[in-house]
Order: sequence, then structure tokens, then C-alpha cells
Amino acid sequence: MVGLSAASTVVGVIGDPVAHSLSPLLHNSAFAELGLDWVSVGFRVADGQAAQALVGARALGIRGLSVTMPHKDAVATLVDRRTPLAERLGAVNCVVIEPGGTVGDNTDGPGLVAALRRGDRFDPAGRRCLVIGAGGAARAVIAALADAGAADVVVVNRSSDRGASAAALAGPVGRLGSAAEAGECDLVVNATPLGMDDRVRPGPAGSGPDTWPLDPSLLAKGQLVVDLVYHPPLTPWLLAARDRGATVSNGLGMLVHQAALQLTSWTGCDPPVDAMWRAVNGYGADDPPA
Ligand code: NAP
Repeated sequence: MVGLSAASTVVGVIGDPVAHSLSPLLHNSAFAELGLDWVSVGFRVADGQAAQALVGARALGIRGLSVTMPHKDAVATLVDRRTPLAERLGAVNCVVIEPGGTVGDNTDGPGLVAALRRGDRFDPAGRRCLVIGAGGAARAVIAALADAGAADVVVVNRSSDRGASAAALAGPVGRLGSAAEAGECDLVVNATPLGMDDRVRPGPAGSGPDTWPLDPSLLAKGQLVVDLVYHPPLTPWLLAARDRGATVSNGLGMLVHQAALQLTSWTGCDPPVDAMWRAVNGYGADDPPA
């Protein structure tokens, strides 16, 4: 972001709500570090309005869109082309707007794997992984762990039919399982909103056993436990996992790396991941953004 002008290139994030999104901060810190005359902003787009938003973005010469809830599935049906991963997931979190049309990709799962490798020094190849949840985030993570060579991707979900369908994304290494298997896994990921601060996303937040994604007594030293939630920075469940001796990480790494991959798709540049990390360092320590 260098001295914005009429010549600046615009990208943005579409979602509702969107004011809380850290994506513009991440993108703009990268543009500043790279010395690019680009800017990223948030566009509040109501549910059901994604088609109009895409048409408008093209007309305005916007170069790319990050896509967040509730639009990921809709945008997958609206873009002109999808990457194989976006096709497989039926969900898009990144749109590249080219003169010839729109291309939809999904960087959520690869973002988590990049964060595991870089931030947690954990390579999923050959490892046993358990994912709690079967929504959009879980599906992206399940597919990415399998693509990264995980030996097992066990899925635990409230609704078993959704869980089975999510597990199928991992192919032969994926299966529906039970929470009791967590102790045998190298990596345990919470991909449900349980534990999230209610002020960020109203939902099933909570701090006690009733709202733990999985009983922490099943976790132990030697395991990596990741919560995709990052507000609060350490959910009560993650704290309980840490008390059990597990190594813990929140969802900020995935957030940073999925944004870094989007940046590369739009600009062709290597992302300045350290600068992006610095931009969100400490996020969540205070009240959530309005
Ligand atoms: P989603 O599509 O709404 O899926 C929610 C999942 O959580 C479903 O599997 C659902 O189970 C389960 N769930 C919801 N409430 C539950 C409860 N009370 N008890 C048990 N299970 C429950 O949500 P999403 O978009 O996948 O997001 C999931 C979380 O990941 C959110 O906290 C989101 O903020 C976070 N996320 C983080 C990043 C990042 O970059 N760090 C990126 C994307 C998402 P059923 O299938 O039975 O309904």
C-alpha cells in the first residue's frame, strides 16, 4: 500500500459480517512490505448477494477477492473456473479476477498445512490426524491433511452423515471415528466454533466441559493440538490441552498462511509471511474489534 491514488489496484474481502476480518490488515501489511501500490478493503455483502458482488467487482476492475462466510459455497458456483481443490471442496475462499474471467481457489487447507510446517514444525506426512468438525473449515483441513500425506485422517463430528461425507474428502486415509481415538493421534484439530468468543461470531461459545470439542483428558504430551478459533487466543479447551502436556496452537497461523497464498495468486509475488505475522501479532489479547 504505497500512497493510494486512482491508479491503485484494489482487492477485498466479501462476507457478512466482515468488519471483524483481519484479511485486509494481512494483505495490506504484505503490500506495504512488497512496495506494491495495492490496497485491500472489506466489503459487507449480504447472504444471497455474492453474484451481484462478483459482477460489480469485475466492472470496477477489482483484481481479487477473499471470500468468507456466508459466501464460500455460493462463490464456488459463480466463478468461471475452479482449481481442482475448489472443485473438490465445492467452496472458494479466493477469487482471482482476470480479463478472461474469474478463477476460484481454496487456500484454507493449504494455509493450515503451511502453518503446521512453518509455525509448529509439524509435517503431516505419515502422521495420524484427528479433525473435529465437518463444516467448511473442517472439510478444507481434512482434504489438505490427506494431500500432505497424512497416514490417517479421523473425523469426529456431531452429525455422523456430515462427518462421513467430510471424511470421504481424504480418500483412502479418511474415515469417521470417535473422540476416544484422539489419544492415538499425533495431531488433533478443532474445526468447530466451540470456544469462540460470542462477540466475534454468535454461536455455541462456552468455557466448560459442555462446550469442549473433545474431552481434554484424552490428550497428552507429545501431541500437537490446534484450535482453528483464535479469539480468544487460547480457548479454554486449548488451555486444558496444554495443561495435559500437549503442544498447542491457535488458528492465527492458518489465517496468515491462507492470506499469504491468496496474495501470491493475485500478485505473483512471494508473500512476506513474517511481516504478515507481525501485523496480527497479539491479536485477540484485548477486546475483539468492533
Ligand atoms: P461451519 O461450516 O458452521 O461448521 C461448524 C462445524 O462445527 C460443524 O461440523 C458442526 O457440526 C460443528 N458444531 C457447531 N456447533 C456445535 C456444537 N454445539 N457441538 C458440536 N459440534 C458443533 O463452520 P466453519 O466455517 O467450518 O468454521 C468452523 C470454525 O473454524 C469457526 O470457529 C471458524 O471461525 C474457524 N475458522 C478459522 C479459520 C482460520 O483461518 N483460522 C478459517 C476458517 C474457519 P454439525 O455438522 O453436526 O452441524
